Formats: sequence, C-alpha cells, structure tokens
Amino acid sequence: MAPKDSNCIFCKIVDGDIPSYKVYEDEHVMAFLDVGPLSHGHTLVIPKGHWVTLDQVPEQVGAAIGKVLPKIAKAVCKVTGIEDYNILQNNGSAAHQAVGHVHFHIIPKTADSGLGIDWPSGKLDGELAADLVANITQAL
Ligand SMILES: [Zn+2]
Repeated sequence: MAPKDSNCIFCKIVDGDIPSYKVYEDEHVMAFLDVGPLSHGHTLVIPKGHWVTLDQVPEQVGAAIGKVLPKIAKAVCKVTGIEDYNILQNNGSAAHQAVGHVHFHIIPKTADSGLGIDWPSGKLDGELAADLVANITQAL
C-alpha cells in the first residue's frame, strides 16, 4: 500500500477529491496539466503514493515513472507542436519545491515561454572530483 498524506494536494488529486486535467494514469503513476503553466502543455507526472523527495521513492515506483516520462513528453510535444522542453524535478524548498509530493514537470520551451534558467556554473576541481566519485560510488 502506497503512503498517503491527507493534507497533500497531489494525494487529493490522486484520490479524485480535487479535480484535475488528467492525461495519464497507471498503477503507480499519474499525469495531469499544471494549473499554473509556464507554457502551453505544461504537465506534471507524479507517483500516486506520497513521497516528498525523489530519493525516498521506491525503486519500482521510480522505474514506473521513468518508463512513462518519455511517452508523455512525446505526446505533449506532438500535441503542442513544441519540440523543445525541460524536465524539471525539484527536491526541498531551497530547490524551489512548492508541493511536498514528488513531481516531474514537463515544460515545453519556446523563445518566449517555458522555464527560465540561471545556470551559474563553476569549475570542477580534480581532487574534489576524485573524492566525490569515491564517496558517491561507496554510498550507492
Ligand atoms: Zn501527496
């Protein structure tokens, strides 16, 4: 049985207690239009169970999301006629997560609509990189 949070807006959408513009549903996953779209066709893909951040999602549910994301993105592109898009998935308030239930945004991108990105890239230090590789591979 997947976890639920009775105060969560996305859990209420999954349960049908709040209406949504649903475009897809299977055993583990649901997708619906974002009601505050950044662009035409902006769609949300969520696990039906309540997990706050992606790292909490069970492997089977993560696989189910990964399986349908390309298919839904393809359909959104076909219908909107917009070829470029971003997949955005935020975890935690500092990372701009506004609803505490894992969700993937599919955001069509045109010259004047879609996701704006500030990308202040740095330079990867070789020694630090080697440490990170060793520690991350150990943590997996
Ligand atoms: Zn929820």
